Amino acid sequence: MAKRDYYDVLGVPKNADQEEIRKAYRKLALQYHPDRNPDNKDAEEKFKEAAEAYEVLSDLEKRENYNRFGHAGVDGTRGYGGGGMTMEDILRQFGDIFGSGGGDPFSTFFDTNDGRRSGGARTRGQRGTNLRIKVALTLEEIATGVVKKIKVKKQVTCDVCNGSGAKDSNAVSTCGTCRGAGYVRQVRSTFMGQMQTTVTCPTCNGAGTTVTANCSKCKGDGVIYGEETIDLDIPAGVEEGMQLSWRGKGNAGLKGGPPGDLLITIEEKPHDYLQRDGMNLVHDLYINFADAALGVSTEVPTIDGKVKIKIPPGTQSGKIFRLKDKGLPAVQAYGRGDQLIHVNVWTPKKVTEEERQLLEKLRNMPNFQPQPIKGEKGFFAKMKDYFK
Ligand SMILES: [Zn+2]
Ligand SMILES: [Zn+2]
Repeated sequence: MAKRDYYDVLGVPKNADQEEIRKAYRKLALQYHPDRNPDNKDAEEKFKEAAEAYEVLSDLEKRENYNRFGHAGVDGTRGYGGGGMTMEDILRQFGDIFGSGGGDPFSTFFDTNDGRRSGGARTRGQRGTNLRIKVALTLEEIATGVVKKIKVKKQVTCDVCNGSGAKDSNAVSTCGTCRGAGYVRQVRSTFMGQMQTTVTCPTCNGAGTTVTANCSKCKGDGVIYGEETIDLDIPAGVEEGMQLSWRGKGNAGLKGGPPGDLLITIEEKPHDYLQRDGMNLVHDLYINFADAALGVSTEVPTIDGKVKIKIPPGTQSGKIFRLKDKGLPAVQAYGRGDQLIHVNVWTPKKVTEEERQLLEKLRNMPNFQPQPIKGEKGFFAKMKDYFK
């Protein structure tokens, strides 16, 4: 069967930006995820097709190749282009994009990620270590999701030897321990008797070859200290402390080994006017006593800009108003939180003589005497209502 155009698969225009591509894939992936479509072959095919399209279009280099040469330009990337991606690959990639932070409905799929592919071909060299970075985001960035260009200092593949660690092609010879197989058989005595196991060759680490003269730049490691600028695609709604992982973006592996993962911890920058409580945002609004008594039309900041609200006459301090859907979006799900406006009546800290006289006049007037508010819920009951 001929492959469909990747842009058609995701339903995005040819000039779509990374954010559009990510959103489109996210939508399809959630729709066709095997968790939601058990035993549905059609959904599985669609899920795989979308993943393959995303795999190519989300990578600038692959996307360029695809734009120029079509499917022929990207088939064979990562070694599975011809036969399509395996479910394991996709679910892994899925984890890369959406992370596996708290409340992730698919987290069970990503827990087995130790960076090595099980049952794959023999691996060369030694896997690179994971790299941890922190990314500080404003609430505005969290509200919309953001692509962050970040310079990461890390071990990169040596550009002289291409990661082999060898001085040149003559400096590589077949490993004497495993005779090029990359693995050796071991016989172990166990309580069940003798067991034969196959293990990676300890001499060549599975490469099947050994290096007789080291590359002068990396001293045989195959990696050098360098940096990479990456576009970190952060989904909307992430929270302080959440961790996203990006497979293969960590330190390069030694002697041609696979790279480690990049682990990204989210930090939240404090906002001047808004506090976060899960998906809800809270704004502390101060109004003066006359406005509280007579009512007023005023502006409050929200995550999408200023919004006009009406404070009705007779509003008590402590009252909470709700702006529906003005909160933060959920990660990996639909829906948005609300913005809560907590009203505080401003008490003057000092007064002029004229103000004092006015206040003295008001002090004893009948409507200025506090009344018990019958049937009104107490503070904690109210809070529970607002935050449920
Ligand atoms: Zn080198
Ligand atoms: Zn060997």
